[in-house]
Amino acid sequence: MTLGIPTTDMSHALPCARHLIDGRAVESANGETFETRDPHDNSVIGTVVRGSAADGERAIKSARRAFDEGPWPRMTPRERRKILHDIADAVDAHRDELAMLETVDSGKITRQALHGEMPRVAQNLRFFADYAAMTPSEAYPDGAVLGYTLYPPAGVVTAISPWNAPLMLATWKVAPALAFGNTVVLKPAPQTPLTAARFGELALAAGLPEGVLNIVHGFGGDEVAGPLVSDPRVDRITFTGSSATGARIMAAAAEQLTPVSAELGGKSANVVFDDADLDIAVPESVKAIFAGSGQVCFAGSRLFVQRGILPEFLARFTAQAEDIVVGDPKNPSTSMGPLIEQRHLDKVHGYVELARREGGTVVTGGSRVTTGEMARGFYYPPTVITGLTNESRTAQEEIFGPVVAVIPFDTEQEALRLANSSPYGLAGILFTTHLDRAHRMAAAWQAGTVWVNCFFERDLRMPFGGQGISGVGREGGQYSRDFFTEPRAVMVRTH
Ligand code: NAD
Repeated sequence: MTLGIPTTDMSHALPCARHLIDGRAVESANGETFETRDPHDNSVIGTVVRGSAADGERAIKSARRAFDEGPWPRMTPRERRKILHDIADAVDAHRDELAMLETVDSGKITRQALHGEMPRVAQNLRFFADYAAMTPSEAYPDGAVLGYTLYPPAGVVTAISPWNAPLMLATWKVAPALAFGNTVVLKPAPQTPLTAARFGELALAAGLPEGVLNIVHGFGGDEVAGPLVSDPRVDRITFTGSSATGARIMAAAAEQLTPVSAELGGKSANVVFDDADLDIAVPESVKAIFAGSGQVCFAGSRLFVQRGILPEFLARFTAQAEDIVVGDPKNPSTSMGPLIEQRHLDKVHGYVELARREGGTVVTGGSRVTTGEMARGFYYPPTVITGLTNESRTAQEEIFGPVVAVIPFDTEQEALRLANSSPYGLAGILFTTHLDRAHRMAAAWQAGTVWVNCFFERDLRMPFGGQGISGVGREGGQYSRDFFTEPRAVMVRTH
């Protein structure tokens, strides 16, 4: 089974991604396809089957049968661990190919795909394989009754993922679901289907039994994703994407009372106090908003700077933003690639226009990059805006692009109030050299993650998720275990 994807060179053949259902690569029931394009130059780089509800149902049936009758849920965690480690080894062995596919499909810079995300894909697999194999069962001896806990798999899991970190976020869901013995139907984002399709092939070749991982391609609503979120044969739904889609999925799942874990949008605050070490705070703040072209859920897009240091901070921050090399993500000297698609570029630029109408001043950036070959792609420069209030729409709504609003504050209480004045609650970022202030802020911040004097650091054992409209539930370590299993209390009379 091959998608016809050449190993590293994309210039000679166009891959065709098909559904993976019941261990076979299949066309859509209605024969429809769509194109996937390179955001660098808008060229067509592959054809993808466009799933309908019928394909979603086929995939659920396959996952259901694999769960009810197949070997996967009946294996020991150690047996599953071995296969998941073999898949991780295959990901490592195909790292160049997967990174190149991710670059041309999503516009992600190759360096990041190669050294950041693909190693994390393998780590997701190994971490959850090990975690599940080492998960203990608690015992509660109490007089004549011995109680203990079991963690059987939940059943069939729907995993729906976005386009901004395609394979990394897909495996953040698929790895724990599989490790705890579930079977899966994965639907990657239609903008970025290629790495998931290739991953499915690698997983099968590495020994994953047929039907355990099914992958369907296409769109939400009443197309392929319809049954994935509304079919009673699905036992869990894990979703990463926008808050609006999360709400729609939860509404559909509520009819069947299917549990949903939702990792959603963000508008995270980044607070820089006047006691901060600016040699750390400036580059980390630049990274916090401009990494991934700002298409990162926990991007620090509201940047609050204590008034006394605002001139110096802004000068250094803007200079470093202007030093970012925007260009072809395949070029090793590039540090920022294009946005995902024209529609998204229009949305991002629309917010910059809105910021101007709201009284903001664009300090740098603010219009599409059209120099040279970038004219054909969806390039937008690092954009820094001042003069806005935290109440402005620009500062309240998720832009999901390289656009930051810089807003001054005076006191710690004001910084905390501003940080928490958002319907989102995904992450908070804080720069200070006062230990007591760091702990005070972390305790009072309404966000799922707080970074102090750093950004992007993750420990996969820790809870990941958001509050407010940034999410429902947490994943990672024991939180993934609790979501992807049906914890069971067993009571045994012993005498
Ligand atoms: P999106 O919500 O448009 O789409 C996400 C996925 O949901 C895609 O696969 C899409 O096809 C599918 N989908 C769309 N409508 C659906 C429906 N009605 N039923 C079922 N599936 C449906 O999001 P996006 O534009 O792909 O991704 C960007 C968003 O994701 C941003 O808001 C970003 O903050 C968020 N995000 C969150 C996290 C996190 O961990 N919290 C991580 C990455 C991205």
